[in-house]
Amino acid sequence: MKIAVIGGGPGGLYFALLTKKRMPNCTIDVYEQNRADDTFGFGVVFSDETLDEFLSADPESYEQVRANFAYWTDIAIEHRGERTLVGGNGFAGCSRVALLNLLQERCHAVGVHLHFETTIDADAPEARFADCDLILVAQGVNSPVRAKYADAFGARVIEQRNKFAWLGSTRPLDAFTFFSPAPTRDISAPTPINTRKAIRPG
Ligand SMILES: Cc1cc2nc3c(=O)[nH]c(=O)nc-3n(C[C@H](O)[C@H](O)[C@H](O)COP(=O)(O)OP(=O)(O)OC[C@H]3O[C@@H](n4cnc5c(N)ncnc54)[C@H](O)[C@@H]3O)c2cc1C
Repeated sequence: MKIAVIGGGPGGLYFALLTKKRMPNCTIDVYEQNRADDTFGFGVVFSDETLDEFLSADPESYEQVRANFAYWTDIAIEHRGERTLVGGNGFAGCSRVALLNLLQERCHAVGVHLHFETTIDADAPEARFADCDLILVAQGVNSPVRAKYADAFGARVIEQRNKFAWLGSTRPLDAFTFFSPAPTRDISAPTPINTRKAIRPG
């Protein structure tokens, strides 16, 4: 079986990794328009429930997440100068590029072919991958291919009015912290960026 994956974000990489593990004889090529270590600055945070899913799906990448990500057991909510600590909420956090790099390494290890700086023309993926049994489109939220086939996929987007800002900080944090700097309903959440050692508790 031959599979082409358009997009080397977390979705495309994790799909490729798990599929190759399940079907070692298939050939999987992932095409990513960016370079391997390009980053857009923001971080990712996973709850304990998500980490449990990672453990059952691929223990090797789970171990790397646990070894390299910051880990908090508490959520702190800072609102109008008052700090409320809520315990028992496990979260692991790190920069997006750290997650991508460890998934890229796992893909290499199981034999997935990764092609960086390769943009796939969204108008004609069927022609480009005519020899493939499956084309997986993992282009993210603004996928032109999904938009093109929205009717067939049943895809629809509903825009809401919620505002959410995700801030990076080099300040060491002892909890997964939400704060509201002004008397407003908007909540912001700082998270670590590219500073794994700096933000690791302890
Ligand atoms: C600020 C912010 C914070 C977030 N925090 C979290 C979090 O803490 N935890 C969490 O679980 N999720 C978080 N998310 C959501 C998470 O980022 C997305 O759910 C996730 O990235 C989706 O992965 P994906 O692989 O489907 O798409 P993407 O991550 O968008 O990846 C799509 C990839 O496809 C590539 N691509 C697109 N078009 C082409 C093309 N034509 N040819 C080749 N390559 C192409 C893009 O370059 C990109 O690398 C956050 C999102 C944002 C914006």
